[in-house]
Amino acid sequence: MAEPVTAQARLDRIVVLIASNMVAEVCSLYVVRSDGVMELFATEGLNREAVHLTTMEPGEGLVGLIASSAEPLALSDAQHHPAFSYKPETGEEIYQSFLGVPVLRGGATIGVLVVQNRARRTYSEEEVEALQTTAMLLAEMIASGELQAIVAKGGQIAVRNPLAMRGLGIADGLGLGHVVMHQPRVAVSKIVADDVDSELLRLETAISAMRASVDELIDRTDDGQSGEHRDVLEAFRMIAHDRGWLRRLREAVSSGLTAEAAVERVQNDARAKLQRQTDPYLRDRLHDLTDIANRLLHQLAGQSLVLLPEELPENAILVARSMSPAALLDYDRSRLRGLVLEEAGASSHVAIVARALAIPAVSDVTNVTEIVEHGDAIIVDGDSGEVYLRPPPDVEAAYAERARMRARKQAQYRALRDVPTVSLDGVPIGLHMNAGLLVDMPHLAETGAESIGLFRTELQFMLAPRFPRPGVQEQLYRAILEAAGDRPVTFRTLDIGGDKLLPYMKGFEEENPALGWRALRIGLDRPALLRMQLRAFIRAGGGRELRIMVPMVSTVDEYKRTRALFDREVAWCASHGYAPPLSAKLGVMVEVPSLLFQLEEITAAADFLSVGSNDLMQYLYAVDRDNRRVANRFDPLSVGFLRALRSIAAASVRSGTPLTLCGEIGGRPLEAMALLAIGYRQLSMSATAIGPVKAMILTMNVAEATRAVESMLAEGRDDASLREPLEALAGRLAIRL
Ligand code: PEP
Ligand code: MG
Repeated sequence: MAEPVTAQARLDRIVVLIASNMVAEVCSLYVVRSDGVMELFATEGLNREAVHLTTMEPGEGLVGLIASSAEPLALSDAQHHPAFSYKPETGEEIYQSFLGVPVLRGGATIGVLVVQNRARRTYSEEEVEALQTTAMLLAEMIASGELQAIVAKGGQIAVRNPLAMRGLGIADGLGLGHVVMHQPRVAVSKIVADDVDSELLRLETAISAMRASVDELIDRTDDGQSGEHRDVLEAFRMIAHDRGWLRRLREAVSSGLTAEAAVERVQNDARAKLQRQTDPYLRDRLHDLTDIANRLLHQLAGQSLVLLPEELPENAILVARSMSPAALLDYDRSRLRGLVLEEAGASSHVAIVARALAIPAVSDVTNVTEIVEHGDAIIVDGDSGEVYLRPPPDVEAAYAERARMRARKQAQYRALRDVPTVSLDGVPIGLHMNAGLLVDMPHLAETGAESIGLFRTELQFMLAPRFPRPGVQEQLYRAILEAAGDRPVTFRTLDIGGDKLLPYMKGFEEENPALGWRALRIGLDRPALLRMQLRAFIRAGGGRELRIMVPMVSTVDEYKRTRALFDREVAWCASHGYAPPLSAKLGVMVEVPSLLFQLEEITAAADFLSVGSNDLMQYLYAVDRDNRRVANRFDPLSVGFLRALRSIAAASVRSGTPLTLCGEIGGRPLEAMALLAIGYRQLSMSATAIGPVKAMILTMNVAEATRAVESMLAEGRDDASLREPLEALAGRLAIRL
């Protein structure tokens, strides 16, 4: 095997060089293995036979002390230090002076580099710094994995350890691939500067450019807002101007380092110090510092901070601290297998886009950008929120098998695409798709959905840098209608407020945003905004069937006021020569519980109803849907919720007003089974849910299930979950879930 010889030979040469540069008789490199043991990987001066044989337990000896403290250690009389541990095979007893530094990567010790001298001597500060700098180069070598080939038999170097991490699944699916850093780290290859003065000049130029880029970033996101967002950005700016940090950089360059090596050195020290902090504020500052240092390195290297989309390899799993939805949309979707982020909530924009693009994604993975290496094998499980870095072969095989199973299932669902959605006992069911972006639209044909049952228009507003003008709105609606072809689209008017804030609209902070000024409430108080959107719908929908629905209606009167605005806009468009829609229907979302007690009136007034079960559940059970502590406290398959839903279905049948349900529960097979049993015939759901729900319906006898569920709901029960009895029912009736 040629490669192991090369790696060892390279290391051997490096330790000889270091020893000679440092005027030391000994130079040794220890590397931390996955079992925590430090193994001697190379030495100049000690007994060569000891290489790959001599090991130090965690915490053992001076080397162990350096590894655990992540601090350099310089001693003129090493053998009398209490931590000194004697290893006879190395022959080191004749060396009195000892200087060791940690080899750091992402704040963790991955090795220890030592020089020793026979005579008693004191190592100068410059010498300590020089050895630390050299350790940086070795860190690259260890982290790149090239030393794995020479580790003692059965060992594994720690930095290449498999690592299971847990985060928050924000887009379903399973992805296997290789790490691509969204903002790649700059590898520092040149450590020593040729000319200190010109290097200082390079550093100053890069600092100015970096500061300008930070100012630009702040200006770009600055909308005069105050509060937390602004504070965070200001903290960022403060770091870019931090005198202490800049002084350390200049000192490091003055000592002979290249500007890049100086940034890396100062950053490594800061990281090692702050890594052990548990205070969240300080840890955030570490993130900021890393970001700023990264920006500076990119300025120095003249590299763009962002990987160019066309540079993306196959099977890429993007890893980033955070990411804007626009950045994600820039990548070539066909090469992306997953996304791992340090921060982004489930309702964040990037999560919405990841779901629309069907890219498995996990967020809240602490420090992931510091741990991964470009090209590492990685698995992303968006269903469970698990991320596996450098998975061992058995884990990889298990996940690959799961991915194949998933793909087989998807193929089965695709095969159902043109099969009519009719239950075993002949009840036709309408399956529709939820969408919010143009990128969602190809799924309509792929899934065979009958229509877009809910188009969330606020996503366009959330992604835009400013309030989209009427022409821009109209353009999007027209593009959506065109993409839908002859299938209808139900547009929902702007549902902002609550958790969906528009960055450019100010003064929205509320104590209880879910109960606040949101959705139709804003529309009715600012009718110009609502009319502008209605007009955009009408103009885009000329010559077609137009379906619009309004969110968060609490009273029939609110609907009637909206209707009046809508009729006025239809008339305005007609009188201004725009082609009128073939028909114009205005529906109501039933998601505020007050409507449950106005069902006769609302069914009489509205053209159709659509149940927003996400919000209806939130308001009926008083559980904030975005608060992880309570969001899943109650089961939608509870007697109370199912009775509420049933009353809406019954009112729809009595009045003949068409009814759909477009909340998340419609897309889960067991929940969908219960919905059909209590009278629902039209469900709108995410594209990926259509196949599984259809497969369930094809095996369901609706009449039989209805009898069983009715008797469950009739029994005097506590309002506990009906999940188990419903699962048992599915089993009994052989319904495929
Ligand atoms: C709902 O509330 O169920 C719904 C479909 O709308 P959203 O999730 O956008 O509030
Ligand atoms: Mg809603």
